Amino acid sequence: MKKYVIGVDIGGTKVATGIISIRDGKLKKKVVLPTHAKDGFEGSLEQVYESIGKVLQMSGTGKEHIEGIGVCAPGPLNPVKGIVHNPPNLPGWNEVPLASLIRKKFRIKTRLENDANAAGMAEVIWGAARGYKHVLYVTVSTGIGTAIIINGKVFHGKNGMAGEGGHMTINYDDKYGKCNCGNIGCIEALASGPYTIKRLRRKLEKNPGLKTNLIDMVDGRLNDLTMIVLSDAADEGDRLALETIAEEGRLIGIWLGSMINVLDPEIIVIGGGVSLMGDVLFKEIRKTIPTHSINIFADKTPVVQARLKRDVGIFGAASVLLKPSEIAALEKGKKRQK
Ligand SMILES: [Zn+2]
Repeated sequence: MKKYVIGVDIGGTKVATGIISIRDGKLKKKVVLPTHAKDGFEGSLEQVYESIGKVLQMSGTGKEHIEGIGVCAPGPLNPVKGIVHNPPNLPGWNEVPLASLIRKKFRIKTRLENDANAAGMAEVIWGAARGYKHVLYVTVSTGIGTAIIINGKVFHGKNGMAGEGGHMTINYDDKYGKCNCGNIGCIEALASGPYTIKRLRRKLEKNPGLKTNLIDMVDGRLNDLTMIVLSDAADEGDRLALETIAEEGRLIGIWLGSMINVLDPEIIVIGGGVSLMGDVLFKEIRKTIPTHSINIFADKTPVVQARLKRDVGIFGAASVLLKPSEIAALEKGKKRQK
């Protein structure tokens, strides 16, 4: 195995590219450029090329030391074929064979992956799921995404579309929970950040007498409520804030009980902004899972917070080129040398 791997994280506003040492997972150099999304596909592609060229140059690393280039981009995309379909965040990108374009330009092996799968793989290679083969990774932020990792590899399904666990229906006749995907009652439409806030706002509007500091914290403007405000109020012991986070944890726990029934994972890693809510959320998730799972080992399945936070997009993209078994062998070799 070669020494380094390059990760490219393409977003609607910026392209972040880094070169990472495979053995210790250290980010050696990083370049962030604007995506220039409004200039269409060609303008953005130029930025991607430039960022890769720059990290190679700045790090002084020859191509012969690069294991490959991993790219994560907004979906929908096909990781198996390396094609970006037509993401809403990247106007003008239409059926772009991104992996093969980059491969031809730099003559380096290139793979494409979606954000959640990439972040899950990064946790397996360098994060909280190291040493585990069967992993369910969950990201909870503005949406809920999942990555299913079996035998150390992301499970893609037939069309590269597998692992959309966030759109599993939890309450099919939910009056309010119409999801962004068009379905009703997906776990994303119940427990992601924006939907948790929506439910809280409704509760406050219906019950103006509720005792809470939340209303004062946003000067009475309920539209200004965010997960950050909720988290701050919970830290100060606000009962409604704590209840709201616990309710979110219960919903996630109910869903994860079913996910365990299907997957029987060795570990569940939770990342994304909402995972930073900490103990209240995780306690409730862990408490709820066993009562909603048929798996007699459900209560023994570790549910832990993701370890990679900064530059997770770069690490995620880079990690999709690596196999956990090879990393473990590298580490063993390193220990022997000492
Ligand atoms: Zn949905």
